[in-house]
Amino acid sequence: MKYLLVLVVVAVGYAWWRGQRTGAPPPQGGRPLPPPQDMVACAHCGVHLPRSEALTNGPRHYCCTEHQRQDAR
Ligand SMILES: [Zn+2]
Repeated sequence: MKYLLVLVVVAVGYAWWRGQRTGAPPPQGGRPLPPPQDMVACAHCGVHLPRSEALTNGPRHYCCTEHQRQDAR
């Protein structure tokens, strides 16, 4: 009877340990995150967009050609 109690305690402890291991989220969520991008604000409407997608006119950035054209006037 004493050995049965020890076996139950070990089984419960092992089940809890397994649950702790599998319950933890995997590092990086299983998918690598894209590198952070530099954000710039449109000089006309102020919307923020990645620098790679912005239209640059010297130190000023624009979200679209329409805003670039309107701000040039
Ligand atoms: Zn804009």
